[in-house]
Amino acid sequence: MSENQTSLNSCAAWTEKASQITIPAHSWVNGKPVAALSGATQTCFNPATGAVLAELPDNAPEDADAAVRVARHTFNSGVWSAMAPKDRKRILLRWADLIEQHQHEIALLETLDVGKPISDTLNIDAPSAVNTIRWTAEAIDKIYGEIAPTAAGTLALIQRLPLGVVLAIVPWNFPLSTTAWKLAPALAAGNSVILKPDPKTPLTALKLAALATEAGLPDGVLNVLPGDGINLGQHLSLHPDIDGQTFTGSTAVGKLLMQYAGQSNLKRTFLELGGKSANIVFADADLDKAALWAAVAGFYNCGQTCTAGTRLLVQQSVYDEVIERVIENSQSWTPGNPLDPDTRMGAVIDQNQINTIQKYIQIGQQEGARLVLGGKPVADSGANGCFHQATLFADVDNNMTIAQEEIFGPVVSAIPFKDAADAIRIANDSRYGLAGAVWSQNISTALSVANGVRTGTMGVNNYFGGDITVPFGGFGESGNGRDKSLHALNDYSELKTTWIEY
Ligand code: NAD
Repeated sequence: MSENQTSLNSCAAWTEKASQITIPAHSWVNGKPVAALSGATQTCFNPATGAVLAELPDNAPEDADAAVRVARHTFNSGVWSAMAPKDRKRILLRWADLIEQHQHEIALLETLDVGKPISDTLNIDAPSAVNTIRWTAEAIDKIYGEIAPTAAGTLALIQRLPLGVVLAIVPWNFPLSTTAWKLAPALAAGNSVILKPDPKTPLTALKLAALATEAGLPDGVLNVLPGDGINLGQHLSLHPDIDGQTFTGSTAVGKLLMQYAGQSNLKRTFLELGGKSANIVFADADLDKAALWAAVAGFYNCGQTCTAGTRLLVQQSVYDEVIERVIENSQSWTPGNPLDPDTRMGAVIDQNQINTIQKYIQIGQQEGARLVLGGKPVADSGANGCFHQATLFADVDNNMTIAQEEIFGPVVSAIPFKDAADAIRIANDSRYGLAGAVWSQNISTALSVANGVRTGTMGVNNYFGGDITVPFGGFGESGNGRDKSLHALNDYSELKTTWIEY
C-alpha cells in the first residue's frame, strides 16, 4: 500500500485504507513471525466499532521460555551487545527511517487498535516514536565512561554495561509511544529485549519489530510476545533468566512486578505507573488559556492518559467562572469516528473501561460532587463502539473517591482552593506524583507552587509540555523509573568498575 499523504485527508480515504491494511497476526521471535506453540489465539477488537481486527497468538509460559532462550543466546553471542555503538546507531537510525516511511500505516494500525483519532496517531504518536528512536540512537556513540580520581599507580574505569535480557511490559493507552520509550534506550544500550504488549493493543509493536529486522537488527535481539498479564506477564516477570524489567501500567500491577522480582532473581525493576495530577489555576492566570487547556488536560485520549489533569484546582474567587469556561471549551470534545481527521476524541478502549468510568461517576454523585457536564456513555450509530462523554464534576472535595483514585476516562474533578499553600497541600494529598501544572501570571506564585508540588513533571502556564530531551516518570506510587532523555539509559545498564594497579 503506498504511503500517499495527500490523498489521506478525509474519513472516506482512511476508511478505504483501513479496508486494505494488512493486520499483523503473529508474535515476532528470532526475527520471524511465529504462532503460539499451542496454536492458541485471542481476538483483538477495534474499540470504535467492535469489529474483529485479528486473531493474535495467545502466548503461554512455554512461548515465554522459548523467547527468553533466544534472547539470552543472542545477548551472550555479542552480536548486538558487543557491537560498536556507532554500528548499533546506524541500524537504529535505519529503523527510525523505516518507521517514518510507514507512518501512515502505523498510525492507522494504532487508530484501529486503540480507538484514538487518526489525527493524533499520525501527528503525535507516530512522529514521537520516530523521534524517540532517532534521538536515542544518535546519542549512543557520544556517551563516555569515567575514570575515577584515584591515587597514582591505580586506574579505575567506570563503564555502563547492558543489563542483559530486558522484559518490557506496556499498556493499551499509548502502545506505540510507550513501546518506543522502552525499546529505544533498551536496544541502544545493547540489551536483548522481550516486549509484552497488552493483548488488546499489540499491532504497532509487531509492525515495529518487523521493521527492526528489515533495518538490520540481528535476529533474536527484539522479540514481541502478545499475551495477557496473568498467563504470560507474570511468568516473564518471575523468570530467573531475565535481568531487568521495565513497565508502564497500573500501580497495582507495578507493585506485583516488584514482588515478582523479589521472589525470583531481583531483576532490576523500573516502573511508570498511574497518576491523579493537579492542574492548578490561580485567579491571576490567563483564564482563557487555562480553561482551554483544562479541557485538553482532562479529555485528550479520552482521559486514558497517566498524566491527565484529572484534578482541576481553581482559586475560589474565579472558581465559578473557570468552571463555565471549561464547559464551553468542552463542546469541542465530543466523541467521534477515529478515522475522521476532524475527530478530537475517539473511543474508550472497551466496555469494561466504560463500566469503570460509570462506576466512578455514580460514586462521585453519591459522595456529593455536582455533575455539571456529561456523565454518560455515547451510543454511536448502530455499531458496537465504546464512547463516553466528556465529564466534569464541581464542588469536589479532595478526600472524595473521584479525587483520589485514577478513573482513566474523560472525567475531571474541580476542587476550589484558597491560596498557594492550600493549593500545594491539596495537590500533594495524593498517593501519586506524576504530572501537573500551575497557571499564574505571577512568576513567584507559579514557581513556588511548581517547586512545592511533589511530582515528576510540572508545567508552568502549559499542560503536557516536554519532549524527548527531558526525563519522564513519577514520584511516590507513580513509579520509580524514568523514560526519555539520556537518564532513561540508566534504567537499562549496570555500572561496572575495573580497578587497575600498575
Ligand atoms: P495494567 O497494569 O492493567 O496493564 C499494563 C500491562 O501489564 C499490560 O500489558 C498487562 O497485560 C500487563 N499485566 C497485567 N497484569 C500483570 C501481571 N500480573 N504480571 C505481569 N504483567 C501484567 O494497566 P492498563 O490498565 O493496561 O493501563 C493503564 C495504566 O497505565 C494506568 O494506571 C495508567 O496511569 C498507566 N500508565 C502510566 C504511564 C506512565 O508513564 N506513568 C503511561 C501510560 C499509562
